[in-house]
Amino acid sequence: MIRNDIQTFVENMPKHITIVAATKYVGSEDMRILFKNRITNFGENRVEDFLKKYQSLKDLPITWHFIGHLQRNKADKIINYIDYLHSLDSYQLAELIEKKRETPLPCFIEVSVNAEENKNGVAYDQVIDLIKSLLPLSKVKVIGLMMMAIQGSSQESLDQQFGKLATLRSNIEKELHISLPYLSMGMSEDYLEAIKQGATHIRLGRILFDKV
Ligand SMILES: *Cc1c(COP(=O)(O)O)cnc(C)c1O
Repeated sequence: MIRNDIQTFVENMPKHITIVAATKYVGSEDMRILFKNRITNFGENRVEDFLKKYQSLKDLPITWHFIGHLQRNKADKIINYIDYLHSLDSYQLAELIEKKRETPLPCFIEVSVNAEENKNGVAYDQVIDLIKSLLPLSKVKVIGLMMMAIQGSSQESLDQQFGKLATLRSNIEKELHISLPYLSMGMSEDYLEAIKQGATHIRLGRILFDKV
């Protein structure tokens, strides 16, 4: 069930923000309603669900994001169907993309800003070396960084966590002389803080739906 004021919600979002609907909670019929309401970027977490929804929504010009952890043994099933990968977290996965992908794939590096809470993602102090090692790959186009904040954090703590990712981005841009235009951060509970700290892509699930 899509929230019934979805139209107002979308209209009130700042224009530079891309809403990526985290659609793991819903099926393709609800995704059609989102699309009618001008949410055209969808993010899936699981390879099997992605393939099912991709098939049944083929008639719509959707921009497809993969936002969950991508296992290497399943990556080739979807790698030529997605438009963005938010969870690039190893050189080995990048090598696989380099081998299997037909056109350059825009990728976010998933960063573990809170190592003690969140096992997913690349350790904060290893991100720059990983990005440096990816520069020669022609099919892996690093366009930004992605993170998840600790659920239930205070507002100050959220500002600090998201701020850390923004700082890392500027440091890498300066040191490697590259541009990382995008930050994928912020979910239903914390997207306002993420936007304040420079998010360009917010991944929203529960807040778009009535009951999940
Ligand atoms: C589910 C999910 C979201 C959205 O979470 P909500 O709290 O429901 O907004 C964002 N990012 C990822 C990676 C997710 O798995």
